[in-house]
Amino acid sequence: MVSLGGLESAYKAMPQELDETIDASVDQALRPQKWAEYVGQENIKENLRIMIEAAKQRGEMTDHMLFSGQAGLGKTTLANLVASEMGGALRVTSGPALEKMGDLAAILTNLESGDILFIDEAHRMNRMIEEVLYPAMESRKLHLMIGKGPAARSITLDIPPFTLIAATTRESLLSGPLRSRFGATFRLEYYAEDDISTIISRSAGILKVAIHDDAISVLSKASRGTPRSANRLLRRARDFMQVEGESGISERVAQKTLRLLEIDELGLEPHDRKILETIIKKFNGGPVGLGTLAAALTEDRGTLEDVFEPYLMKIGFLQRTPAGRVALAPAYEHLKIRRAGELL
Ligand code: ADP
Repeated sequence: MVSLGGLESAYKAMPQELDETIDASVDQALRPQKWAEYVGQENIKENLRIMIEAAKQRGEMTDHMLFSGQAGLGKTTLANLVASEMGGALRVTSGPALEKMGDLAAILTNLESGDILFIDEAHRMNRMIEEVLYPAMESRKLHLMIGKGPAARSITLDIPPFTLIAATTRESLLSGPLRSRFGATFRLEYYAEDDISTIISRSAGILKVAIHDDAISVLSKASRGTPRSANRLLRRARDFMQVEGESGISERVAQKTLRLLEIDELGLEPHDRKILETIIKKFNGGPVGLGTLAAALTEDRGTLEDVFEPYLMKIGFLQRTPAGRVALAPAYEHLKIRRAGELL
């Protein structure tokens, strides 16, 4: 039997990369391979099915698509499903990986007819790369400059039919010209608790681990409406169950796992709580401007705005107002902090 403290130090001793590599391979095993396994987001699935069916009937590629939404909501998984439905290969790259124009040119010239090109974190592409992408998206042309100075000349290459799927967690950072070149934009929302429960049961089945309904409920509530978080919590609960010598994940195991990870029953982590506490204690509950709040937390404005705030807003703990961020009543209740002037 390993104590809580023992397990915690075991995690800390594990190199981060190793942990992530193990997680990444399990992640792959849990990734839905068929539409039927992709839980929720019904509206998006329906729209995609129609787009794909219509394109297949015409014998063409679908329009280019933009998937926008928080990390872990299933954008990459959707891209995989689109590729398999279209019968094309998925070529994966990302905004930060495309540093030079040549990087994108190499990918585009190597595309085969019917391929799906997936660019993750598309908001991190630089403008020069975007310029190369525009003609490729619009008319399947690649304009290249050969040589330098007076001897430089431009050549144009044809690219085979392909569909671009770009994914972004920060749609507001995409340039207008890029955004306007997608035929369809799909915004992935947080999942309902029932959908997350279904995902956890399915993943537990794949991992061959027994899990009680009440444990599923505890883990679903703490998953922030995000499939990747749900799968991560399930894996941690499985680890904990194993070292505790239990045969399945019970409610007790699920709760202890959350405690070990310092995640509360709503899925808030220490940093989320710190954000709320800072607004409440340092800025009297707000409104406080984003820049001021970010400075007080020594946090990047963009990360605060796009990574942490969306979930706090979704659960009604935080509001963005023209005057700044405001902590709402449920946040006070959750943190057990009394509001100024509130009676006992
Ligand atoms: P994103 O690209 O948006 O960051 P991913 O597509 O990588 O998210 O999804 C993260 C993990 O969550 C996947 O490995 C998959 O196992 C799971 N997942 C995502 N969406 C769903 C879904 N709708 N149904 C079941 N599992 C999902």
